[in-house]
Amino acid sequence: MTRGEALDHADPLSGYLDRFVPSEGLVAYLDGNSLGRPLAASVDRVADFLVREWGGRLIRGWDDDWLELPFVIGDELGRVALGAAAGQVFIGDSTSVLLYKLARAALAASPGRTEIVLSRQDFPTDRYVLEGIAHDLGLSIVWLDAEAEGGVTPAQLAGAVGPSTALVVLSHVAYRSAYIAEGAELTRIAHDAGAFILWDLSHSAGAVPVDLDAWGANLAVGCGYKYLNGGPGAPAFAYVRRDLQSELRQPIQGWLGSRAPFEMGEGYEPADGIRRFQTGTPPIVGMLAMRDMIALLDEAGTDAVRAKSEQLTAFAIELTDELLPEARLASPRDPERRGSHVTLDHPGFAEIVPRLWREGVIPDSRRPDGIRLGLSPLSTSFAEVQRGVEAIARLLG
Ligand SMILES: *Cc1c(COP(=O)(O)O)cnc(C)c1O
Repeated sequence: MTRGEALDHADPLSGYLDRFVPSEGLVAYLDGNSLGRPLAASVDRVADFLVREWGGRLIRGWDDDWLELPFVIGDELGRVALGAAAGQVFIGDSTSVLLYKLARAALAASPGRTEIVLSRQDFPTDRYVLEGIAHDLGLSIVWLDAEAEGGVTPAQLAGAVGPSTALVVLSHVAYRSAYIAEGAELTRIAHDAGAFILWDLSHSAGAVPVDLDAWGANLAVGCGYKYLNGGPGAPAFAYVRRDLQSELRQPIQGWLGSRAPFEMGEGYEPADGIRRFQTGTPPIVGMLAMRDMIALLDEAGTDAVRAKSEQLTAFAIELTDELLPEARLASPRDPERRGSHVTLDHPGFAEIVPRLWREGVIPDSRRPDGIRLGLSPLSTSFAEVQRGVEAIARLLG
């Protein structure tokens, strides 16, 4: 038995591996953080929806329950993975669009404040969206510089915020390094300066616990197709803290965010509650699969999922220390500060990734010379991690 197989044998969650659709010729899927694998249950759910609900109910489906689905699934996600009480989360749009909508809403509620705080190491869309908004509104960006293998620290944020800060936008788990930011502490620092904070949870939701209500966070967004397994282009999610909902207005005033969409009336009046952050007709088919993953996370228990995530990334680091001594670890060694992926830098990686893909070993490459091993806890085995790292070492050797 290999070490990976022995760890699988001892893994209380190993039974969940069989719940996912098998992939022919796959040796190691190490990119579950970019695109989660489909659950077998989702195949049935989507087929059943097409035949029975769309086919059978036709337009009546909207009245049955489709219109409520973004909020029903939002509440499920909030309870299972975000530490959010009901009525504060919905599913829709994409992460980029929701970032825009919530950032604009926060800025409109911050008159006289002129600065947005952002990390230079954040995911491009977060930077681009906020740079565009800053340009349109004549605001300036205060850039934070994080260590390559780290992320934004409380001391850094405290040094960057002040009476001019309107909004702080941060990723909870850094997309490149996997560094887990201190959610409660950074939220408190933003609030002490009188600023809003908008969290991007794209690399957290479904793998690393988040406690939005306990943090006192204002706003959050995140992806539905990474650790939530919603499928390519699945809609995103947004959180708006309950007490802020009536005071915030988002900029894309569509009919389904209005108070009485089916009255077809004149003039936009925002709906009460989280509903006002919705814009147009919600992408119902696209949000079905993530519901199965949310249920699976609930069944497995998010603490157990987090524990396996730490063990998987620790095992990946142990193997790379041993087999790839020339690679530089660009993720935290401290498991408490490390999300569910591991990034390694090595000048040879860019060249071998196409060969790895052909062999059925699928990591992700990250510029300039990084390889990212994304280990989705319920769908990744320890044996798979071992096969993947061994293949990388062999091709580099
Ligand atoms: C993956 C990711 C996104 C993706 O945004 P889309 O609008 O879904 O393309 C945004 N932000 C972060 C931090 C991400 O990791």
